[in-house]
Order: sequence, then structure tokens, then C-alpha cells
Amino acid sequence: MIPHEYIEEVVRRNDITDVVGSYVQLRHRGRMHTGLCPFHSEKTPSFFVYPETQSFYCFGCGAGGDVISFIKKINNLDYVESVKYLASRAGMPLPEEDDQVGRLRSRVLSINKEAARFFYEQLNADNEEARAARAYWRGRGLSDGTIRRFGLGYAPNDFSAMRLHLRSKGFTEEEMLAAGIIKRSERGRVYDAFRGRVMTPIFDLRGNVIAFGGRVLGDEKPKYINSPETLVYKKSKAMFALNLAKKSTNRRYILCEGYMDVISMHQAGFDTAVAACGTALTAEQVRLLTEYADEVILCYDSDEAGQKATARSLELFAQSPVKVSVLNLPNAKDPDEFIKKFGRDQFEHLLNGTSNAIEYNIKKVRAKYDLTRPADRVEYIKEVIRILSDHVSPTERDIYAGRLAEETDVSKAAILTQLQSAVKSNQRRRERQKQKDLLKEGWASDIHLPYNTMNGEKALGVANAEQQLVVAMIKNPSFIPAVQKQLQPDRFLMQDMGEAYQAILSCSEQGIAPDLTALSVRLPEQTVNRIAQLLARNYDVGIGARDVEMYLQRIEQSKPPSVEAAEMNNQQLEDYFEQLRQKKMK
Ligand SMILES: [Zn+2]
Repeated sequence: MIPHEYIEEVVRRNDITDVVGSYVQLRHRGRMHTGLCPFHSEKTPSFFVYPETQSFYCFGCGAGGDVISFIKKINNLDYVESVKYLASRAGMPLPEEDDQVGRLRSRVLSINKEAARFFYEQLNADNEEARAARAYWRGRGLSDGTIRRFGLGYAPNDFSAMRLHLRSKGFTEEEMLAAGIIKRSERGRVYDAFRGRVMTPIFDLRGNVIAFGGRVLGDEKPKYINSPETLVYKKSKAMFALNLAKKSTNRRYILCEGYMDVISMHQAGFDTAVAACGTALTAEQVRLLTEYADEVILCYDSDEAGQKATARSLELFAQSPVKVSVLNLPNAKDPDEFIKKFGRDQFEHLLNGTSNAIEYNIKKVRAKYDLTRPADRVEYIKEVIRILSDHVSPTERDIYAGRLAEETDVSKAAILTQLQSAVKSNQRRRERQKQKDLLKEGWASDIHLPYNTMNGEKALGVANAEQQLVVAMIKNPSFIPAVQKQLQPDRFLMQDMGEAYQAILSCSEQGIAPDLTALSVRLPEQTVNRIAQLLARNYDVGIGARDVEMYLQRIEQSKPPSVEAAEMNNQQLEDYFEQLRQKKMK
């Protein structure tokens, strides 16, 4: 752990307005600054920086936090890396590296490196097993050069070969367990995690081995085993082969489903092929790709699962500045098979003729209808217009309207007129949705109606009271002792606010101001985000001792949370509050 004093100093020396200002063009707006959000694409600014609380919040996508969270998010770094980044930005010496977590992290990296070397040696050993493994990789069409380039290997069918090897290199069992390279059975025995499998190491951007994927040679189950998440491996943030792809001058990336597809594509000369680690692409991986790619071609398997993954990925890319297109593979189940059957030139040909997301969606709709039938034609036009009315540029709209006119024998002018009105109603729908979302979030209602006056009594929502109380203690820590005397953390109905309260108390015990920086080492990211949002909403709201009294009263009047309430989702919780309100009115 980095000492709190050091982190405080880092935050103090990195004014949030300066730091954010080097990534986002900010404008003054009263006591805050505003600009276009770097985390989602938008045309009107909903991203705010608040110098007084040294925090930021985006009302569009909900990203928020302190200067460290900003750096973490925008550079895709972990917490410690972000602190170091900001420290060097401010010209501070780096914190002492004697912390235990940092030490274990570097041990895990050393183990992974040694393990990769071991797997590679085992693949090239002179025995029956190794010969079978080599035959496997060659059977997949890989050259020796490719095997070396990707550091592919083989894990012998042995429960202790890796453990004994690593022990001879001076690693402890605890360290091996932390690396996920060995496992412990329920009976307490340790054993090698990968046995009798061909191995693919996964590298981070700096070229460290961070994890492994292992596949059986035959059809046994489970077919694939991957490293668990460890100190050095977060699968939602890792991209396979991005360390190689980022060296390419080409900014057109090919996103594949599996490691094998990526490897055979690299061998065929497509050096920007990558795959997401984990089962589904994540928003974090999209953000990471966006840093290196101008264009991404989705190249998933042609089966149903692959098509579903394509649709999901298209949604994730919709908000990114990257141009996305979809590669359809005729007569092959995946890119690996296609290249083997038809050769790299045919594949390149396909790549250059890829259809973009709009075409892909139109094609899918087209397959449903028989255009010789007038009724089908009408339905087809309606569906295409719906596709074209959402997130499509005017130029593209014009092109596709022209094509649609030709295809259906309807005049282009008529189609354009319909399209215009669809675009308008879409905009109105989005506006309404935005309003609704804001209302639901309580943003609008909080501003205009901090509490409703009913029967002369202030009936403030319990949820609201809990949130406001947390904000009050953060903005003015002198409230904490009084609140602490009156309120137990388990009295909170909203679990995240209860945790926030506990974190605030722990800060106060240690004599630390409960600002976002201090809270973010004690709370999950989601809760910190939520607090950043609450602070943003209350930026111009003064909260006094009488308000705090009222919040406390409101919480005391509420029933202590039942077991059910603790397990409710947001909708159920809202209904529950509604019931409470109704009861009060009777
Ligand atoms: Zn945003």
C-alpha cells in the first residue's frame, strides 16, 4: 500500500482542472468547468469539473471521481500506476516499492515468465507427449516461427512438474497460488493448474506474461482452461496480441473471437488481429482499442454465438470514435478455417469489402422479406428507415435511401421524407428519455423539490436523506461526530450509502479528511462514482446543521431495513419507498 500521506500530496500537487484540461478542452462556467466528455461521445458538454471538491462528473455517462480516478480511466491504468503517473507529472519521487502487494505482483510476473519458458521447453522436449503437442500446433497450420513469436508451449500431463520446477527456481507455494499456476484442492493438496494442454501465454502492453490459456489436444472437456484473475491479470481489461498489434503502422484492427484465429491471422500477415480476453468484449477493452485503432473489423465465428457477440460488440462500439465494420465469412466457421481453405489473399479481399454496421443490419433485415410481395416491401422499408434514423450521418442516410429506393422501386424523395420524420421523432424520443432518466436519477427532483411538504411535515425520502447525509459529512467533516453518535451504519436502507458511511467513519477515526481520494481506496468504484455524482448535484447547495438534523430524523423515522429490503433491486426499493410514503399520508 502507498501511504495515505503520499497519495494526499500527489492529489494536492495535481490540480484536477489542470490535469483534466490537458485531455479535455474546458470552459469556465461559474465556479466550475465544463467540456465534452472524454469517456463517451457527445456534442453538447455534460462533463463537469469542480475545483472546490477536486472532482469531476459526467451527467451523460455517469463517470466521476477524483483526479486519480480520471487518470485511471483515461489511461486505462490501475490505481497504483495512476498514482505513480501523477507523482511523476508533479515531479515527486516515487513511493518506496517495499509494499507487500507490489512485491507479490512482481513475483507473480516472474513466475509467469518462468512458467512460459518452461511450457516452451516442454513443447520442444524429446519425448512422446511433446511430439504429440508439436504435431497439434503444426496440425493447426502453425510454423515454428509463429510458435516462437507467440511463445506457444505445452503443459505436460503431470500434477507437479510445474510446481517442482518453480520451487527449484526459488518460488514459494503461496506465490505460485497467487499466480494461479498451481491450485489447492479441498483436501489441501496443491497441484499444477495446467496439465496435458497446449499453452498460449497472454502478454500485457509492456510484454509481461500476465496469464495463460490452455487447450486440450483432443476433444476432452473442459476444452479450454484459462488463468484465473490475479494481481496482474484482469481479463476485462486485457486484449490478446495487442502487444504485437500496437507495433504495426496499420490502424485498422481485426477483432477475433479466439486466440487461435488471432495467431493464424498474424501468421498470414495480418498483424493487427487481436482478441478480447474473457468471454465477452467489455467497454474497457473498447476504450483500450480506441487508443490504437482508427477502424475495427469484427471478425467473429459465423455460428449463432458469434453473431450474438457481433451484435453486442457493435453496441459497445456505437459510442466510440472508431469506425466499425463487420466481416461476414462465407463457407467457413471462423477466420482460421477461412484462411486455410481459401488463402490469405481471399481473406484480404474480404477485409477490404467489409460491410459497415449499417449494411450489416440492413442485410439482416433484408433476409426476412420477399421483396416481390408488396406487403413485405412496405415492412422492409419501415425497418430500414428505423435503422437509418438512428446514429447515422446525413451523407450515409442519403446513400442508403438511394439504394433502398432502387431495391424497392419506391421514389427516393418519398423515402427521404419518411426518413426525415423518423429522425425527428427519434430525437424527440431521445430527449424525453433523457428527461425521464434524469428524473429517475432524482437529479431534477432533487434540485426543485429537496423535500415535499405534506401536512405541514417535511416528508423527505429516506433514500434521499441517506444520500444527503453522506454528502454533508464529506463536504463538512465537522458533522461526523454528531452523526456518529446518533446513527449506526446498519440503519442505512441503501447498501452503498451504508458502506460509504462506514468508510467516512473509518477516515475520521484515522484523522483523514473523507474526500473522494480517501474514499476511493475504501469503496468499490461504483460507489465512488455515485458519490461523485451526489457531490456534483450538491455543488451549489449549502447543507447546514439543521439540514443534517432533518436527515437524521428522517432516517430514524424509517423502519430499520428488513432482510428483504437489503436484497431488493432498485425498482423494488423504489416501490418500497413509495409504500412508505403512502402509509405516511394515511
Ligand atoms: Zn460521459
